[in-house]
Amino acid sequence: MNQEFTVDPSRLVSPDASPADAEENSLRPKTLEEYVGQTKAKGNLRVYLRAAQQRGEPMDHVLLYGPPGLGKTTLAGIVAQEMGVQIRITSGPAIEKPGDLAALLTNLQEGDVLFIDEIHRLSRQVEEVLYPALEDYALDIMIGKGPSAQSIRINLPRFTLIGATTRAGQLTGPLRDRFGILLKLEPYSPQELGQIITRSAGILGIPITEDGALELARCARGTPRIANRLLKRVRDFATVQGDGTIDKETAVEARRWMDIDELGLDELDRSLMRAIIEMYNGGPVGLETLAAALGEESVTLEDICEPYLMQMGMLTRTPRGRCVTRLAYEHLHMAVPRRFDDIDGQQTMF
Ligand code: ADP
Repeated sequence: MNQEFTVDPSRLVSPDASPADAEENSLRPKTLEEYVGQTKAKGNLRVYLRAAQQRGEPMDHVLLYGPPGLGKTTLAGIVAQEMGVQIRITSGPAIEKPGDLAALLTNLQEGDVLFIDEIHRLSRQVEEVLYPALEDYALDIMIGKGPSAQSIRINLPRFTLIGATTRAGQLTGPLRDRFGILLKLEPYSPQELGQIITRSAGILGIPITEDGALELARCARGTPRIANRLLKRVRDFATVQGDGTIDKETAVEARRWMDIDELGLDELDRSLMRAIIEMYNGGPVGLETLAAALGEESVTLEDICEPYLMQMGMLTRTPRGRCVTRLAYEHLHMAVPRRFDDIDGQQTMF
């Protein structure tokens, strides 16, 4: 391994935004045409946007859900752009008190988009202020305390709330019901990620071949944020090791140097599966036990490793704990236990 480079691979494939993603804004598509993939969500949105434009009204409130880094913030920006209005961006944990939300809402202009990321993390008190704002474009404010307390109603400009969440199941029923439009974002195919990488490379002035882009796309875990991050990392590698162009060969070499395999699994993913196999005979094992065995935080395993391993069919979550599947043994080139043969045997017996 080249000593000039030291990387923390567990961070490279994390879908959450990090300070290293500072260039992200310049890579965000500004129109629906530029926004790659998500055909279904985009198609729906196009209809709602057109209808709102024809009526001359703000669009209905939208809830976007899906894993981090799939393009929720980007899509909210596109809605504002297409409607020709401003977007205000905030997040659930940043709105601590009802007063914070009231300040945000009263500062909106007619038609504006308010984007609340991680909306499932709003406190109950703040959520209650949001209900009349969403339904009637109004704020109910209590003045005074005790028997002399009075409620006064302030009218707000009409606006569109776009809420984003990685955990739709954690949203309260009453909040979910107040969104007219629910859109689910899906992981991207390698071809779509290849297009995103080629587009980003164009913006950043990085020479890349089609094969090179596809090779990076394959290990980006279905996530544009990871794809763009890999591109930037591999750019450095290509500059130092070659002529600066990312072709298939450079991409494969860079991936190996970053310790990311052809499916986008990094050392932490592989250690997790290896631990379940070697220490717990393939599972089941509880998350906390596993985290302690690996010396990792359980949230890191749950939020970063597990969703992708489950999507790849290598890990299952059962009520008794985590188990690896036959694919995990095969991917790690480890002997597949007999019990998996039995399952196959039954299937192929006749
Ligand atoms: P989220 O809000 O879901 O965490 P973001 O909207 O911040 O994700 O997207 C992360 C990055 O991925 C952005 O910088 C953007 O450039 C890129 N991106 C996301 N979705 C797309 C897409 N459909 N087409 C092109 N680039 C995308």
